[in-house]
Amino acid sequence: MLLEVKNLRQAYGDHEVVAGLSFSLARGAIGCLLGPSGGGKTTVLRCIAGFETPQEGEIRIAGRMVSGPGTMVAPEKRRIGMVFQDYALFPHLSVAGNIAFGLHAMAHAERAARVRKLGELVGLTAALAKYPHEISGGQQQRVALARALAPSPELLLLDEPFSNLDIDLRERLSLEVREIIKASGATAVLVTHDQQEAFAMADEIGILHERHIQQWDAPYNLYHRPANRFVADFVGQGVFLPAKALSAGRLEIELGVLESDERGKEDLEVLLRPDDVVHDDAAPTRAEVLHKAFRGAEILYTLRLESGRKVLALVPSHHNHALGEKIGIRLDVDHVVAFRPEAQSSKP
Ligand code: ADP
Ligand code: MG
Repeated sequence: MLLEVKNLRQAYGDHEVVAGLSFSLARGAIGCLLGPSGGGKTTVLRCIAGFETPQEGEIRIAGRMVSGPGTMVAPEKRRIGMVFQDYALFPHLSVAGNIAFGLHAMAHAERAARVRKLGELVGLTAALAKYPHEISGGQQQRVALARALAPSPELLLLDEPFSNLDIDLRERLSLEVREIIKASGATAVLVTHDQQEAFAMADEIGILHERHIQQWDAPYNLYHRPANRFVADFVGQGVFLPAKALSAGRLEIELGVLESDERGKEDLEVLLRPDDVVHDDAAPTRAEVLHKAFRGAEILYTLRLESGRKVLALVPSHHNHALGEKIGIRLDVDHVVAFRPEAQSSKP
């Protein structure tokens, strides 16, 4: 493992930001901490970078303890590169000057060669002599990335790197940046509150909530096999429908019977994602179109079932139905996700 974070605790005064937080990352992998704002993502990055001294826990980079009981390696000795939300480029330095910033120990010719190489890696060869204010936001982001990668860090840390860019650019750039990081061979930790960004960039994602990681997993598993209700709610869209346990492994919901791994006898709630509900004119179950969101290739329908409960259905957009219309639906659930019903509120 290139990065190991074990049982990390960081508090400001009596405000505990993270506690018992652990994860590890293999060399060359891109990991992401995903969670709501104020959840402690930046705090964890600052601990890894060495700007904070955690109260508890251990951090190892390439097998070397950098934070732990009696150990605190200085940030500049951790072989880390950082990319911040606001890029923090030096306005008085050219693109080349910015990229060269961390290379002062290199001989002149070697440094120039390294700057050219990084300029090429991020696709800015033609812009090396320009100044930050002369290039676009997306290009500035790539300069920040090249500057962080230039000294060949073991570990790259990215804090909400795309939040200052518009949505279109964000999506394209997150894929580009992923390719650049992969090509550089660096291991990276990204933190963001933006799911699309996390899914586009990361090999593995940890959902940060209530001071620790709720589930650390591949994006596919977070979506299809959420470990708990918070993860199920937070990642992707979906609804919960009450389910009656018929016999071992069979759960009945309003839309039919599902085969599940659950062997208990208690009633549960089943998560239905928009892609679990399929539109089919021949299906006997009808549901009323309450709302529709056009997404280009698909329409996301909000449908009302007989009982009045709502489900979401993702339907190819040539099936264009009007509000109030009743359309046929059936289940196409690959893996059933079921949890105990949420504790009922005791309020009257
Ligand atoms: P995120 O990056 O997920 O938005 P942060 O790590 O920035 O979350 O902040 C987590 C919590 O820690 C917030 O409540 C924030 O106010 C608090 N916090 C962060 N840094 C400090 C600090 N230096 N002193 C006191 N409180 C802090
Ligand atoms: Mg933050």
